[in-house]
Amino acid sequence: MTAEISNIDKLAIIPEKQGATEYIKISYPLRYGRYSEIRTPAHIFGFNLNGEIKTIQGRTGDWLTSAEWLKRTAGNDWQYFSAGGYSGAHNYTGEYYIPCLPYRTNTIFGGDAFKREEVGEAFAAWHRLAEKIESIDTAGFKDAEAALSQRIRQMTPEKLKERGRRLHRIIGGMVTVLPPDTRHVEYDVIPVTVADGCLYNCAFCRVKTGRGFSVRSRQAVVDQLSALKQFYGPDLINYNSVFLGQHDALYAGIEMLGFAAQKAWEILELGKSIMKDPRLFLFGSADSILAADEALFEMLNSLPFYTYINLGLESGDARTLSMLGKPLSTEKVADAFDRMLEVNRRYENVEITANFVIGAGLPDNHLPSILDLTRSRLNRFCPKGAVYLSPLEETGDKNRLLTSFNKFKTLCRLPAYIYLIQRL
Ligand code: SF4
Repeated sequence: MTAEISNIDKLAIIPEKQGATEYIKISYPLRYGRYSEIRTPAHIFGFNLNGEIKTIQGRTGDWLTSAEWLKRTAGNDWQYFSAGGYSGAHNYTGEYYIPCLPYRTNTIFGGDAFKREEVGEAFAAWHRLAEKIESIDTAGFKDAEAALSQRIRQMTPEKLKERGRRLHRIIGGMVTVLPPDTRHVEYDVIPVTVADGCLYNCAFCRVKTGRGFSVRSRQAVVDQLSALKQFYGPDLINYNSVFLGQHDALYAGIEMLGFAAQKAWEILELGKSIMKDPRLFLFGSADSILAADEALFEMLNSLPFYTYINLGLESGDARTLSMLGKPLSTEKVADAFDRMLEVNRRYENVEITANFVIGAGLPDNHLPSILDLTRSRLNRFCPKGAVYLSPLEETGDKNRLLTSFNKFKTLCRLPAYIYLIQRL
Protein backbone atom coordinates (compact mmCIF):
# COMPACT_ATOMS: atom_id res chain seq x y z
CA MET A 1 0.00 0.00 0.00
CA THR A 2 1.45 3.41 -0.93
CA ALA A 3 1.02 5.88 1.87
CA GLU A 4 -0.29 9.31 0.93
CA ILE A 5 1.40 12.11 2.84
CA SER A 6 0.17 15.67 3.31
CA ASN A 7 2.22 18.36 5.00
CA ILE A 8 -0.02 20.67 7.00
CA ASP A 9 1.23 23.18 9.52
CA LYS A 10 4.55 21.27 9.97
CA LEU A 11 2.64 18.02 10.41
CA ALA A 12 3.18 15.19 7.91
CA ILE A 13 -0.13 13.29 8.02
CA ILE A 14 -0.36 9.73 6.70
CA PRO A 15 -3.93 8.46 7.25
CA GLU A 16 -3.18 4.84 6.40
CA LYS A 17 0.06 2.89 6.48
CA GLN A 18 0.66 -0.81 6.10
CA GLY A 19 3.23 -2.33 8.41
CA ALA A 20 4.50 -5.91 8.53
CA THR A 21 1.83 -8.61 8.60
CA GLU A 22 3.84 -11.21 10.46
CA TYR A 23 5.80 -10.89 13.67
CA ILE A 24 9.49 -11.23 13.02
CA LYS A 25 12.55 -10.93 15.19
CA ILE A 26 14.63 -8.18 13.75
CA SER A 27 17.20 -5.75 15.10
CA TYR A 28 15.55 -2.58 13.82
CA PRO A 29 12.15 -1.11 14.75
CA LEU A 30 9.25 -2.51 12.77
CA ARG A 31 5.58 -1.54 12.96
CA TYR A 32 2.91 -4.19 12.53
CA GLY A 33 -0.52 -4.11 10.93
CA ARG A 34 -2.44 -1.17 9.55
CA TYR A 35 -2.14 2.20 11.25
CA SER A 36 -1.95 5.99 10.78
CA GLU A 37 1.01 8.25 11.34
CA ILE A 38 1.66 11.91 12.06
CA ARG A 39 5.20 13.21 11.93
CA THR A 40 6.42 16.45 13.46
CA PRO A 41 10.01 17.67 13.05
CA ALA A 42 10.89 16.00 16.40
CA HIS A 43 8.63 12.92 16.71
CA ILE A 44 6.74 10.20 14.85
CA PHE A 45 3.31 9.42 16.35
CA GLY A 46 1.52 6.19 15.39
CA PHE A 47 -2.25 5.73 15.81
CA ASN A 48 -4.30 2.59 15.65
CA LEU A 49 -7.39 2.36 13.46
CA ASN A 50 -9.59 3.73 16.28
CA GLY A 51 -7.46 6.91 16.42
CA GLU A 52 -5.84 5.90 19.72
CA ILE A 53 -2.18 6.87 20.15
CA LYS A 54 -0.16 3.67 19.87
CA THR A 55 3.52 4.54 19.42
CA ILE A 56 5.83 7.53 19.86
CA GLN A 57 9.36 7.69 18.56
CA GLY A 58 11.85 10.58 18.65
CA ARG A 59 13.62 11.57 15.45
CA THR A 60 16.20 14.12 16.56
CA GLY A 61 19.55 13.86 18.37
CA ASP A 62 17.75 14.42 21.69
CA TRP A 63 16.10 11.02 21.46
CA LEU A 64 18.34 8.47 23.12
CA THR A 65 18.51 6.09 20.19
CA SER A 66 16.62 6.14 16.94
CA ALA A 67 15.96 2.40 17.38
CA GLU A 68 13.82 2.77 20.54
CA TRP A 69 10.20 3.75 20.94
CA LEU A 70 7.20 4.02 23.27
CA LYS A 71 4.15 1.82 22.81
CA ARG A 72 0.74 2.15 24.43
CA THR A 73 -1.15 -1.05 25.27
CA ALA A 74 -4.90 -1.67 25.03
CA GLY A 75 -4.92 -1.47 28.86
CA ASN A 76 -3.53 2.10 28.58
CA ASP A 77 -0.04 1.36 29.87
CA TRP A 78 3.02 2.75 28.17
CA GLN A 79 5.95 0.44 27.49
CA TYR A 80 9.38 1.71 26.51
CA PHE A 81 10.92 -0.61 23.92
CA SER A 82 14.60 -0.54 24.72
CA ALA A 83 17.30 -2.01 22.49
CA GLY A 84 19.01 -3.09 25.72
CA GLY A 85 22.16 -1.00 25.36
CA TYR A 86 25.26 -3.14 25.72
CA SER A 87 23.54 -5.81 27.76
CA GLY A 88 22.56 -7.95 24.75
CA ALA A 89 18.78 -7.95 24.76
CA HIS A 90 18.53 -10.94 22.43
CA ASN A 91 20.67 -13.24 24.56
CA TYR A 92 18.57 -12.55 27.64
CA THR A 93 15.06 -12.26 26.24
CA GLY A 94 15.00 -13.84 22.77
CA GLU A 95 13.96 -10.45 21.36
CA TYR A 96 15.94 -7.53 20.02
CA TYR A 97 13.86 -5.12 22.09
CA ILE A 98 13.05 -5.16 25.78
CA PRO A 99 9.60 -3.75 26.58
CA CYS A 100 10.06 -1.91 29.86
CA LEU A 101 7.07 -1.40 32.09
CA PRO A 102 7.56 0.34 35.39
CA TYR A 103 8.13 -2.97 37.29
CA ARG A 104 11.19 -3.13 39.54
CA THR A 105 12.25 -6.61 38.42
CA ASN A 106 12.16 -5.47 34.80
CA THR A 107 14.87 -2.87 35.36
CA ILE A 108 17.68 -5.43 35.54
CA PHE A 109 18.68 -4.36 32.03
CA GLY A 110 19.12 -0.70 32.87
CA GLY A 111 17.47 2.22 34.56
CA ASP A 112 13.89 3.35 34.40
CA ALA A 113 13.37 4.79 30.91
CA PHE A 114 10.33 6.75 32.11
CA LYS A 115 12.59 8.96 34.24
CA ARG A 116 14.54 10.13 31.18
CA GLU A 117 14.08 13.71 30.05
CA GLU A 118 13.51 12.84 26.39
CA VAL A 119 10.78 10.34 27.30
CA GLY A 120 9.01 12.99 29.39
CA GLU A 121 9.38 15.37 26.44
CA ALA A 122 7.85 12.75 24.08
CA PHE A 123 4.71 12.63 26.25
CA ALA A 124 4.61 16.44 26.41
CA ALA A 125 4.92 16.54 22.61
CA TRP A 126 2.00 14.11 22.31
CA HIS A 127 -0.16 16.42 24.44
CA ARG A 128 0.89 19.43 22.32
CA LEU A 129 0.00 17.49 19.17
CA ALA A 130 -3.43 16.57 20.59
CA GLU A 131 -4.09 20.27 21.32
CA LYS A 132 -3.00 21.22 17.83
CA ILE A 133 -5.24 18.59 16.22
CA GLU A 134 -8.11 19.84 18.38
CA SER A 135 -7.78 23.40 17.12
CA ILE A 136 -6.54 22.84 13.57
CA ASP A 137 -8.76 23.99 10.71
CA THR A 138 -9.55 20.86 8.70
CA ALA A 139 -11.28 22.74 5.88
CA GLY A 140 -8.39 22.08 3.48
CA PHE A 141 -7.97 18.44 4.54
CA LYS A 142 -8.65 15.49 2.27
CA ASP A 143 -11.42 13.18 3.52
CA ALA A 144 -9.05 10.58 4.99
CA GLU A 145 -7.04 13.24 6.84
CA ALA A 146 -10.17 14.90 8.24
CA ALA A 147 -11.51 11.50 9.37
CA LEU A 148 -8.19 10.71 11.09
CA SER A 149 -8.19 14.10 12.85
CA GLN A 150 -11.74 13.43 14.01
CA ARG A 151 -10.79 10.01 15.39
CA ILE A 152 -7.77 11.43 17.21
CA ARG A 153 -9.84 14.29 18.70
CA GLN A 154 -12.23 11.79 20.21
CA MET A 155 -9.42 9.87 21.91
CA THR A 156 -8.58 12.41 24.60
CA PRO A 157 -6.30 11.30 27.48
CA GLU A 158 -9.43 10.87 29.65
CA LYS A 159 -11.08 8.73 26.97
CA LEU A 160 -7.93 6.60 26.65
CA LYS A 161 -7.90 6.05 30.41
CA GLU A 162 -11.55 5.10 30.34
CA ARG A 163 -10.91 2.65 27.48
CA GLY A 164 -8.22 0.93 29.58
CA ARG A 165 -10.75 0.61 32.42
CA ARG A 166 -13.41 -0.63 30.01
CA LEU A 167 -11.15 -3.44 28.80
CA HIS A 168 -10.56 -4.50 32.40
CA ARG A 169 -14.28 -4.36 33.20
CA ILE A 170 -15.05 -6.61 30.22
CA ILE A 171 -12.66 -9.36 31.30
CA GLY A 172 -13.20 -8.89 35.05
CA GLY A 173 -9.95 -7.14 36.04
CA MET A 174 -6.47 -6.26 34.83
CA VAL A 175 -4.28 -8.98 33.33
CA THR A 176 -1.60 -8.77 36.02
CA VAL A 177 0.79 -10.99 34.10
CA LEU A 178 0.97 -12.23 30.52
CA PRO A 179 2.70 -15.49 29.59
CA PRO A 180 6.31 -14.83 28.54
CA ASP A 181 5.57 -16.47 25.18
CA THR A 182 3.37 -13.50 24.21
CA ARG A 183 6.68 -11.80 23.31
CA HIS A 184 6.34 -13.65 19.99
CA VAL A 185 3.48 -11.27 19.03
CA GLU A 186 4.93 -8.18 20.74
CA TYR A 187 2.32 -8.69 23.53
CA ASP A 188 -0.51 -7.84 21.09
CA VAL A 189 -3.04 -10.32 22.43
CA ILE A 190 -6.76 -10.09 23.06
CA PRO A 191 -7.40 -11.26 26.65
CA VAL A 192 -10.37 -13.48 27.48
CA THR A 193 -10.89 -14.84 31.00
CA VAL A 194 -12.01 -18.46 31.06
CA ALA A 195 -11.15 -19.22 34.70
CA ASP A 196 -10.32 -17.15 37.78
CA GLY A 197 -7.64 -17.75 40.38
CA CYS A 198 -5.15 -20.57 40.56
CA LEU A 199 -4.57 -23.85 42.39
CA TYR A 200 -1.78 -22.96 44.82
CA ASN A 201 -1.80 -19.31 45.96
CA CYS A 202 1.97 -19.55 46.55
CA ALA A 203 3.43 -17.35 49.28
CA PHE A 204 6.07 -15.69 47.04
CA CYS A 205 3.71 -14.73 44.19
CA ARG A 206 2.96 -11.06 43.55
CA VAL A 207 0.06 -11.66 41.17
CA LYS A 208 -2.06 -14.25 42.96
CA THR A 209 -5.71 -13.46 43.52
CA GLY A 210 -5.86 -15.21 46.90
CA ARG A 211 -9.05 -16.96 45.80
CA GLY A 212 -9.57 -20.54 44.77
CA PHE A 213 -9.82 -21.70 41.16
CA SER A 214 -13.14 -21.42 39.31
CA VAL A 215 -14.13 -21.82 35.68
CA ARG A 216 -16.40 -19.20 34.10
CA SER A 217 -19.62 -20.16 32.36
CA ARG A 218 -19.82 -20.50 28.58
CA GLN A 219 -22.21 -17.54 28.49
CA ALA A 220 -19.69 -15.38 30.39
CA VAL A 221 -17.06 -16.22 27.76
CA VAL A 222 -19.39 -15.39 24.87
CA ASP A 223 -20.41 -12.12 26.57
CA GLN A 224 -16.75 -11.13 26.94
CA LEU A 225 -15.99 -11.94 23.32
CA SER A 226 -18.96 -9.91 22.05
CA ALA A 227 -17.91 -6.94 24.23
CA LEU A 228 -14.28 -7.31 23.12
CA LYS A 229 -15.33 -7.22 19.48
CA GLN A 230 -17.04 -3.87 20.13
CA PHE A 231 -14.12 -2.62 22.20
CA TYR A 232 -11.41 -3.28 19.58
CA GLY A 233 -13.69 -2.05 16.78
CA PRO A 234 -11.99 -1.31 13.44
CA ASP A 235 -8.57 -2.10 14.96
CA LEU A 236 -9.58 -5.75 15.41
CA ILE A 237 -8.04 -6.62 12.05
CA ASN A 238 -4.62 -5.95 13.57
CA TYR A 239 -5.00 -8.79 16.09
CA ASN A 240 -4.87 -12.52 15.55
CA SER A 241 -3.77 -13.81 18.94
CA VAL A 242 -5.71 -14.56 22.10
CA PHE A 243 -4.66 -14.98 25.74
CA LEU A 244 -6.97 -17.28 27.68
CA GLY A 245 -6.70 -16.09 31.31
CA GLN A 246 -6.09 -16.08 34.13
CA HIS A 247 -3.34 -17.99 35.90
CA ASP A 248 -4.14 -21.63 35.06
CA ALA A 249 -6.52 -21.80 32.09
CA LEU A 250 -5.20 -25.29 31.29
CA TYR A 251 -7.05 -26.53 34.39
CA ALA A 252 -10.34 -25.28 32.89
CA GLY A 253 -10.33 -28.51 30.88
CA ILE A 254 -10.92 -29.64 27.33
CA GLU A 255 -14.52 -28.50 26.99
CA MET A 256 -14.01 -24.92 28.13
CA LEU A 257 -10.71 -24.53 26.25
CA GLY A 258 -12.14 -25.90 23.01
CA PHE A 259 -15.26 -23.77 23.37
CA ALA A 260 -13.38 -20.55 24.20
CA ALA A 261 -10.81 -20.99 21.41
CA GLN A 262 -13.46 -21.74 18.80
CA LYS A 263 -15.75 -18.89 19.90
CA ALA A 264 -12.82 -16.46 19.99
CA TRP A 265 -11.96 -17.45 16.43
CA GLU A 266 -15.56 -16.97 15.26
CA ILE A 267 -16.70 -13.91 17.23
CA LEU A 268 -13.46 -11.94 16.90
CA GLU A 269 -13.31 -12.95 13.21
CA LEU A 270 -9.65 -13.78 13.55
CA GLY A 271 -9.65 -15.44 10.15
CA LYS A 272 -10.06 -11.93 8.69
CA SER A 273 -7.06 -10.49 10.54
CA ILE A 274 -4.37 -9.02 8.34
CA MET A 275 -1.76 -10.57 10.69
CA LYS A 276 -0.48 -14.04 9.80
CA ASP A 277 0.05 -17.03 12.10
CA PRO A 278 -2.68 -16.84 14.79
CA ARG A 279 -1.57 -17.86 18.27
CA LEU A 280 -3.28 -18.89 21.49
CA PHE A 281 -1.57 -18.36 24.85
CA LEU A 282 -2.40 -19.73 28.28
CA PHE A 283 -0.85 -20.59 31.60
CA GLY A 284 -0.77 -24.05 33.10
CA SER A 285 0.57 -25.67 36.27
CA ALA A 286 2.13 -28.96 37.32
CA ASP A 287 -1.28 -30.29 38.35
CA SER A 288 -3.11 -29.08 35.23
CA ILE A 289 -0.61 -30.59 32.79
CA LEU A 290 -0.62 -33.89 34.67
CA ALA A 291 -4.44 -33.91 34.64
CA ALA A 292 -4.61 -33.12 30.89
CA ASP A 293 -5.07 -36.20 28.71
CA GLU A 294 -4.15 -36.77 25.08
CA ALA A 295 -7.63 -35.71 23.91
CA LEU A 296 -7.01 -32.19 25.25
CA PHE A 297 -3.71 -31.81 23.40
CA GLU A 298 -5.18 -33.35 20.25
CA MET A 299 -7.98 -30.77 20.41
CA LEU A 300 -5.48 -27.90 20.86
CA ASN A 301 -3.32 -29.30 18.07
CA SER A 302 -6.26 -29.20 15.66
CA LEU A 303 -7.20 -25.53 16.31
CA PRO A 304 -6.42 -22.82 13.76
CA PHE A 305 -3.97 -21.41 16.34
CA TYR A 306 -0.43 -22.39 17.31
CA THR A 307 -0.85 -22.80 21.07
CA TYR A 308 1.69 -21.86 23.75
CA ILE A 309 1.17 -23.10 27.31
CA ASN A 310 3.42 -21.68 29.99
CA LEU A 311 3.89 -23.72 33.19
CA GLY A 312 4.91 -22.19 36.51
CA LEU A 313 7.22 -24.84 38.02
CA GLU A 314 9.59 -22.48 39.93
CA SER A 315 12.20 -25.03 41.10
CA GLY A 316 13.21 -28.67 41.15
CA ASP A 317 14.57 -28.31 44.68
CA ALA A 318 12.46 -29.17 47.74
CA ARG A 319 13.97 -26.48 50.00
CA THR A 320 13.41 -23.79 47.37
CA LEU A 321 9.80 -24.85 46.78
CA SER A 322 9.20 -24.74 50.51
CA MET A 323 10.88 -21.33 50.83
CA LEU A 324 8.66 -20.01 48.00
CA GLY A 325 5.55 -21.41 49.64
CA LYS A 326 4.78 -23.45 46.50
CA PRO A 327 2.92 -26.59 47.57
CA LEU A 328 4.54 -28.96 45.07
CA SER A 329 6.77 -32.00 45.53
CA THR A 330 9.97 -32.30 43.48
CA GLU A 331 8.55 -35.54 42.01
CA LYS A 332 5.50 -33.67 40.71
CA VAL A 333 7.67 -30.93 39.19
CA ALA A 334 9.80 -33.56 37.45
CA ASP A 335 6.72 -35.43 36.17
CA ALA A 336 5.22 -32.17 34.84
CA PHE A 337 8.51 -31.34 33.13
CA ASP A 338 8.70 -34.78 31.51
CA ARG A 339 5.12 -34.39 30.29
CA MET A 340 6.02 -31.00 28.82
CA LEU A 341 8.88 -32.58 26.82
CA GLU A 342 6.58 -35.37 25.66
CA VAL A 343 3.81 -32.99 24.49
CA ASN A 344 6.34 -30.82 22.68
CA ARG A 345 7.65 -33.86 20.81
CA ARG A 346 4.21 -35.23 19.97
CA TYR A 347 2.15 -32.18 18.88
CA GLU A 348 3.26 -29.94 16.07
CA ASN A 349 0.98 -27.00 16.96
CA VAL A 350 1.36 -27.05 20.72
CA GLU A 351 4.40 -25.73 22.55
CA ILE A 352 4.79 -25.88 26.31
CA THR A 353 7.32 -23.66 28.08
CA ALA A 354 8.30 -23.57 31.75
CA ASN A 355 9.11 -20.91 34.34
CA PHE A 356 11.58 -21.19 37.17
CA VAL A 357 12.60 -18.47 39.57
CA ILE A 358 15.99 -16.79 39.84
CA GLY A 359 17.14 -14.43 42.56
CA ALA A 360 19.38 -13.84 45.54
CA GLY A 361 19.32 -15.95 48.71
CA LEU A 362 17.89 -19.14 47.18
CA PRO A 363 19.26 -22.52 48.37
CA ASP A 364 22.45 -23.70 46.63
CA ASN A 365 20.68 -26.63 45.01
CA HIS A 366 18.09 -24.47 43.22
CA LEU A 367 19.88 -23.80 39.91
CA PRO A 368 21.48 -27.31 39.79
CA SER A 369 17.97 -28.75 40.26
CA ILE A 370 16.70 -26.87 37.20
CA LEU A 371 19.75 -27.94 35.22
CA ASP A 372 19.06 -31.50 36.23
CA LEU A 373 15.68 -31.18 34.50
CA THR A 374 16.69 -29.08 31.51
CA ARG A 375 19.98 -30.80 30.70
CA SER A 376 20.04 -34.34 32.06
CA ARG A 377 16.64 -35.24 30.60
CA LEU A 378 17.57 -34.26 27.03
CA ASN A 379 20.39 -35.83 25.06
CA ARG A 380 20.87 -32.79 22.82
CA PHE A 381 19.68 -29.21 22.36
CA CYS A 382 15.99 -28.90 21.49
CA PRO A 383 14.73 -25.55 20.09
CA LYS A 384 11.09 -26.15 21.13
CA GLY A 385 9.87 -25.40 24.66
CA ALA A 386 11.75 -22.49 26.21
CA VAL A 387 12.72 -22.22 29.85
CA TYR A 388 12.16 -18.80 31.44
CA LEU A 389 13.92 -17.67 34.59
CA SER A 390 11.74 -15.19 36.42
CA PRO A 391 13.56 -12.73 38.73
CA LEU A 392 12.23 -12.62 42.29
CA GLU A 393 11.75 -9.28 44.08
CA GLU A 394 15.12 -9.88 45.75
CA THR A 395 17.46 -10.03 42.75
CA GLY A 396 20.65 -9.08 44.62
CA ASP A 397 23.53 -7.84 42.48
CA LYS A 398 22.26 -7.57 38.89
CA ASN A 399 25.56 -8.54 37.30
CA ARG A 400 25.83 -11.63 39.47
CA LEU A 401 22.27 -12.59 38.52
CA LEU A 402 22.97 -12.18 34.80
CA THR A 403 26.23 -14.15 35.13
CA SER A 404 24.33 -17.02 36.81
CA PHE A 405 21.79 -16.86 34.03
CA ASN A 406 24.50 -16.99 31.34
CA LYS A 407 26.11 -20.05 32.96
CA PHE A 408 22.74 -21.74 33.13
CA LYS A 409 21.93 -20.86 29.52
CA THR A 410 25.20 -22.37 28.29
CA LEU A 411 24.44 -25.72 29.91
CA CYS A 412 20.63 -25.85 29.42
CA ARG A 413 19.50 -27.95 26.44
CA LEU A 414 16.39 -25.84 25.84
CA PRO A 415 16.25 -22.16 24.81
CA ALA A 416 16.61 -20.13 28.04
CA TYR A 417 15.54 -16.55 28.65
CA ILE A 418 14.77 -14.10 31.43
CA TYR A 419 11.04 -13.64 31.99
CA LEU A 420 10.05 -9.98 31.78
CA ILE A 421 6.67 -9.56 33.39
CA GLN A 422 4.15 -7.65 31.30
CA ARG A 423 0.60 -6.76 32.23
CA LEU A 424 -2.37 -5.74 30.13
S1 SF4 B 1 2.84 -18.58 41.10
FE1 SF4 B 1 1.12 -19.22 39.82
S2 SF4 B 1 0.12 -20.81 41.03
FE2 SF4 B 1 1.41 -19.68 42.46
S3 SF4 B 1 0.07 -18.09 43.29
FE3 SF4 B 1 1.10 -17.20 41.54
S4 SF4 B 1 -0.33 -17.50 39.86
FE4 SF4 B 1 -0.94 -18.89 41.49
